[in-house]
Amino acid sequence: MSIHAPEVANRIQLDERELPTRWYNIQADLPFPGSPPLHPATKEPVGPQDLAPLFPMELIKQEVSQERYIDIPQPIQDALRLWRPSPLMRATRLERELKTTAKIYYKYEGGSPAGSHKPNTAVAQAFYNKAEGTKRLTTETGAGQWGSALAFATKLFELECMVYMVRISYEQKPYRKSMMQVWGAEVVPSPSDRTQAGRRIRAESPDSTGSLGIAISEAIEDAASREDTKYSLGSVLNHVLMHQTIIGEEAQLQMERAGAMPDVVVGCVGGGSNFSGLAFPFLRDRIQGRSKTRFLAVEPAASPSITRGKYTYDFGDTIGMTPLLKMHTLGHAFVPDGIHAGGLRYHGMAPLVSALADHGFIDAVAYPQRTVFDAAVQFARTEGTIPAPETAHAIRAVIDEAVKARERGESPTILFNFSGHGLLDLSAYDAYFAGTLSDVTLSEARIQELVGAL
Ligand SMILES: *Cc1c(COP(=O)(O)O)cnc(C)c1O
Repeated sequence: MSIHAPEVANRIQLDERELPTRWYNIQADLPFPGSPPLHPATKEPVGPQDLAPLFPMELIKQEVSQERYIDIPQPIQDALRLWRPSPLMRATRLERELKTTAKIYYKYEGGSPAGSHKPNTAVAQAFYNKAEGTKRLTTETGAGQWGSALAFATKLFELECMVYMVRISYEQKPYRKSMMQVWGAEVVPSPSDRTQAGRRIRAESPDSTGSLGIAISEAIEDAASREDTKYSLGSVLNHVLMHQTIIGEEAQLQMERAGAMPDVVVGCVGGGSNFSGLAFPFLRDRIQGRSKTRFLAVEPAASPSITRGKYTYDFGDTIGMTPLLKMHTLGHAFVPDGIHAGGLRYHGMAPLVSALADHGFIDAVAYPQRTVFDAAVQFARTEGTIPAPETAHAIRAVIDEAVKARERGESPTILFNFSGHGLLDLSAYDAYFAGTLSDVTLSEARIQELVGAL
């Protein structure tokens, strides 16, 4: 029997007293001017008063802040300490299986109560709402990752929570709905009869299975119509991305402790928040000329906003109620196919990620889902942990990078964000093993049709 070469530490854990105490706001360091959100009617930049019915003032300030660092209030730190600092892992078994000369590290965000990175911003949003007197939060959810994160966070800060869940997911993926109910949220299938938007759609098509766009409209209408209620969003916006930078702030400490710095940072992108959370603190060094780290955003071929969309002003939602955001988009009318990575089915992309990609700081790649599940299973069979289908997109890209490194005789350090575990997505794995997963790639004609209308 052979004995392995000296084992490397493959789990780098920070002490709970080492939790970062401030978020990094990349808006302070952008080497190009930002593009403000525009009012859909006037096409003028939106002001704080336009957003005040939906968000507490502190979050509106963060959205436009030029401060490089923002202190994390103590009650948010206390909430984050329920599962943070999160571990940084070295994927030595995957490295051996791939016979790669690359070093692969991942930041494990699956250990939060909801099982993903999303509670990092949910607890912050719940805190600021509570501090400003909000009694109740509304939101929309597709497969339920965001709804469950917000349900958990609102319970911690004693707020009521109302979740409009896309009807087809409500019926077909009941377990995250159950989690939301455990944490005391009210969950209704959308379209519902609680709002005008929902009632109108049900009158027109009684069998509507719903969509994220419809659910957003319901959640916004509910929040705008009640004095005690505000609205909460789980990705895309600047303040959400900033709350996620706690991931990268921790990861920098951990990589230093491991004596390694990443040559490439990888993450999957739906709205862009988990990728940004890991990447932005490392991008700070790249922007300031202190590193040459590469940044790779991974999207599904069924919803390829950065790789194939247009960089222009578009609505954040499907119906056209939100401000216009400058972003990579496939057009707000685009409803992605029902791929299993529900969290990556979004027509647009965070404006900050879009701008950084447009200026060459972020590269992007898109994969169809079968090859993504190949990577997910390879990861689970070496490292043990079963990734969420979203996370598996990042893993696909990491494996490809590691194999390329081997072929070129290079030994880069690769760091990726393990955005969530897949224990509530096992039906997707069943479909993969049954051979019923389909690969959908958008035709160029369809993309031209979608973005041509913008
Ligand atoms: C929601 C989600 C994503 C995608 O959202 P981003 O805002 O792009 O991070 C990725 N992974 C998991 C596990 C998710 O729940």
